[in-house]
Amino acid sequence: MVLKKHIIFVALVVFAVSMNFALALPLDGYSSFSSREEDEPCEIIVSDAEKQERLLMRNGMVQTMYRWPNNTVVYNMDSPPFDAAEKDLVERSLKTIEQVTCVKFLKRTNEDFYVNLTANSGCSSQVGYQGRLQNGPQRLNLSKSGCFSLGTIVHEFLHALGFYHMQSASNRDDFVTIKWENIQTGKEHNFEKYGANVITDFGISYDYLSVMHYSAYAFSSNKEATIEPQDLAYKNLIGQRNGLSEKDIAKINIMYNCPE
Ligand SMILES: [Zn+2]
Repeated sequence: MVLKKHIIFVALVVFAVSMNFALALPLDGYSSFSSREEDEPCEIIVSDAEKQERLLMRNGMVQTMYRWPNNTVVYNMDSPPFDAAEKDLVERSLKTIEQVTCVKFLKRTNEDFYVNLTANSGCSSQVGYQGRLQNGPQRLNLSKSGCFSLGTIVHEFLHALGFYHMQSASNRDDFVTIKWENIQTGKEHNFEKYGANVITDFGISYDYLSVMHYSAYAFSSNKEATIEPQDLAYKNLIGQRNGLSEKDIAKINIMYNCPE
């Protein structure tokens, strides 16, 4: 019940912010996050079938179809070219999610629907459980040269679980300014925001420290920032890839109905 009260409080705060009340976000406990050597920025993969499906989305209930049955993500990384050290890092990364949620990750044996890891260029993933929406396994790509860090692996699997980028939140303009003029041509779609009919914040307020947030310079064409937090104290903190934030953990637990 404490959590429920907390959620109601957070929902009220979000409402207050959306009504243009000023609110200073505290750094509570996150000050150890620091700027780091960056992995490649990540792009989400949207299938044609999913684009069609999204057109039909008009309420939150449809979204549950994108959640993994039995809270269990099935994945395959057996095909070459991943080596033992890379497989080990993926397993350790997934354990950090399992330890704080009720979500499980299972190596594929003969399941029909699963995430297939590949090692092409870039870091990318489809968003949410695809199931029968497409033929063949859903995709998650980890380039060997730019995606093998714990935080980036966690980030890609959070896409697979059903999370978009933090800066895609429908209310993001209250928290960050997108500098369109600094974004590489052809990469603008990564900075789209989605309506509340497609994604929900589960009543948890905007999270500059989410592992799903882009860094300030993601897909910059000119070394200038592409995302500027309205609270400039967060400029070097957004885009952390150390692991799940407290709010990331809370959202996974709500999305997958984890027991308190
Ligand atoms: Zn991403």
